[in-house]
Amino acid sequence: MIETDILIIGAGPVGLFTVFEAGLLKLRCHLIDSLPQVGGQCSEIYPKKPIYDIPAYPSILAGDLSDKLMEQIAPFKPGFTLGETAVEIEETDDNQFIVTTNLGTKHKAHNIAIAGGLGVFTPRKPPIPSLKFFEKKGVDYIIKDPEAYRDKKVVISGGGDSALDWAIFLADGVAKEVTLVHRSKSFRGHLDSVQRIMDMASDGKVKLMTDSEVIDVDGKEKLEHIIIKTKGEENTTVSIDSWLPLFGLTPKLGPIAKWGLEIEKNAIKVNTFDYSTNRDGIYAIGDVNTYPGKLKLILCGFHEATLMVQSAFKRVYPDKNNVLKYTTVNGVNGF
Ligand SMILES: Cc1cc2nc3c(=O)[nH]c(=O)nc-3n(C[C@H](O)[C@H](O)[C@H](O)COP(=O)(O)OP(=O)(O)OC[C@H]3O[C@@H](n4cnc5c(N)ncnc54)[C@H](O)[C@@H]3O)c2cc1C
Repeated sequence: MIETDILIIGAGPVGLFTVFEAGLLKLRCHLIDSLPQVGGQCSEIYPKKPIYDIPAYPSILAGDLSDKLMEQIAPFKPGFTLGETAVEIEETDDNQFIVTTNLGTKHKAHNIAIAGGLGVFTPRKPPIPSLKFFEKKGVDYIIKDPEAYRDKKVVISGGGDSALDWAIFLADGVAKEVTLVHRSKSFRGHLDSVQRIMDMASDGKVKLMTDSEVIDVDGKEKLEHIIIKTKGEENTTVSIDSWLPLFGLTPKLGPIAKWGLEIEKNAIKVNTFDYSTNRDGIYAIGDVNTYPGKLKLILCGFHEATLMVQSAFKRVYPDKNNVLKYTTVNGVNGF
């Protein structure tokens, strides 16, 4: 049994920063995340994109923000259960919680901070039976490192911003060849991006196939060919290195939705005094919560985490008074 003061479910930017604010109050933290790495959306969806609204960083790559947060919380020695999903919660007689993961790992804590963001990431997958075999062997639903596609023949499917943005990026000197396949003639993405793709297609930088969809995939050890169906034409077999079906991620709160918490529009309702939920000792911070005026921004999550740990402290030390001390005065005293 892993025991801690605050069990944080979700190791995205908000979950990570919670460790720092809790550490200043001498509270220990342990984090659980379904993903094999920390950083949440920043590491999983857009690690190479610059963020411009983190205070004091005019620009920082999302992946670098995760690295900086890990550096900042290191003195407080958080524990991690990565690659496992928190599925069950039970209350103990001593007013604590036990959270069990899908792999059976048990964690006991005085406080639970749900920082689950959009929930467990579930990409929308095309209905091709043999697709599973080629996942991470030529088929990727999320682009983590564009360098993986350098000098490769890439086909991207989709008509939204993600498909357009990555087609533009990869065709601009990264991949050897980029084909964008889309079911319809019109795109859902920003007008600027649509215009850019059209221009790149006329310049021969991107091959555009509209009214088309990938209907099958094939290869021996890894992906080698895809079959494309275009309205009114014969199916074509295309040899490629990578196929990127970018049809978006479905936000799914997942198992947390069954924990008896008040849910509104796929998010957990909280009291903005301390971001507590309707269950005493369970808090929700970051993208996963909702309240009047909520903004799903990283800096708002950081603020929520800072207020939340004050109440968490009182649950661990009901007889102690916590007085706010500046880090400039007290420094950062790790464990
Ligand atoms: C393309 C893009 C660009 C963005 N740009 C900006 C920007 O410029 N500025 C800005 O402020 N924000 C931006 N955002 C939003 C920002 O990324 C989110 O606000 C932020 O990631 C929320 O952090 P979080 O820690 O609350 O949740 P997340 O980052 O979503 O992390 C939540 C984590 O919880 C895990 N999890 C969920 N349920 C469970 C469970 N049951 N068990 C275990 N783990 C679980 C998930 O695997 C995930 O890793 C952007 C988002 C996207 C997609």
